[in-house]
Amino acid sequence: MTETAPDLDRLRGGAPPRNHDARTIAALTANPGCARRGVMDAAGVDKDAVARHLGFPAPFGQSQFAITRGNAFEAQVKADGCAELLTLLRDRLGLAVAEAAYDDLEVVAGNEGRELRHARTRRLLARALETGEGTLFDHPLLRLEIGGRLAYLEPDVIAFQVEGRLHVIEVKSFAVVDGQAEPEQVAAAARQSAVYVLALRRLAAELGHDPGRVSHEVFLVCPENFSNRPTATPLDVRPQLAVLERQLARLTRVDTILEALPEDLCFEPGDALADSVRAVEARYAPECIAGCEMAFFCRDEARACGATGTLGRGVRDDLGGIDTAGTALALADGSLSPSDDLAETAAQLRTAARLRDEALAAARGGAA
Ligand code: SF4
Repeated sequence: MTETAPDLDRLRGGAPPRNHDARTIAALTANPGCARRGVMDAAGVDKDAVARHLGFPAPFGQSQFAITRGNAFEAQVKADGCAELLTLLRDRLGLAVAEAAYDDLEVVAGNEGRELRHARTRRLLARALETGEGTLFDHPLLRLEIGGRLAYLEPDVIAFQVEGRLHVIEVKSFAVVDGQAEPEQVAAAARQSAVYVLALRRLAAELGHDPGRVSHEVFLVCPENFSNRPTATPLDVRPQLAVLERQLARLTRVDTILEALPEDLCFEPGDALADSVRAVEARYAPECIAGCEMAFFCRDEARACGATGTLGRGVRDDLGGIDTAGTALALADGSLSPSDDLAETAAQLRTAARLRDEALAAARGGAA
């Protein structure tokens, strides 16, 4: 296993790599069989820029208003070495936070290089696990194995140490009203936090510590009751961790995909970009629209060739091995002979076609 290997760097041309965040990992695990996304993400390709260059921009992310509001809330919570956050943890959650130290890991001596930042994150968290030194570690830069490669992971969270255990603190700008927040937003925050918990657990294990020193209980900090006053809620992310570990294990290995690709493949903007993207197999499904910057390009491509994935993952899985609607129809009307591995599916399609014809004929007879 290597980190950003030269073959992956080459895929970006001269562009700097983009780090993963929890959203990209959650989206990646939602479509573990997509080689295109697997390769582009592993290489740190800016998929948003690629999609825009190809004429298929995907409107992603929060509105400018929501971003500004979120940044202001986060700045408030983290002001003065996270003073307000510490009060919350002590008073509201009753945690025994004695003296608190705050380390910001976003920049190391004016240098934002990710190797340096990751090395500092490792050093400080190793010290915390060994000696209990340090309380709040802001913007740790973590790594997680994705498809057999180590990817940098840029969490916008705080690792918080109390009583010998590390907890993830996630600051979100959606409101908690009368103790309740939008379930979908809480679920998304739980999924994201689980990514960070997993990355911290793997780091703890690498450093020779029990991964259980990183708690499955994370703290979600949100504005309360339409005010800017923060409130903290503990979240148990064990179910999300279990799903994430299962999905990461299912991801197609990037090395295997790379072996089958042209040696000069590159995702640099230019006339050859569309061909380069098409050279890597995609597994489009309508769910991609909510989670991947390449979705409109892939949808266009899938529609043009009549891919079964455009009808939804359920249909594609039911038609396992049949890639296009045209092939499915030809197998159903008998104009195409199936290969041995598709014989059973073809028989089911012929039965479905016969039942459909009978139902239509009956309906026409009833209407006459
Ligand atoms: S949009 Fe395209 S690249 Fe992204 S996950 Fe879907 S099929 Fe893969």
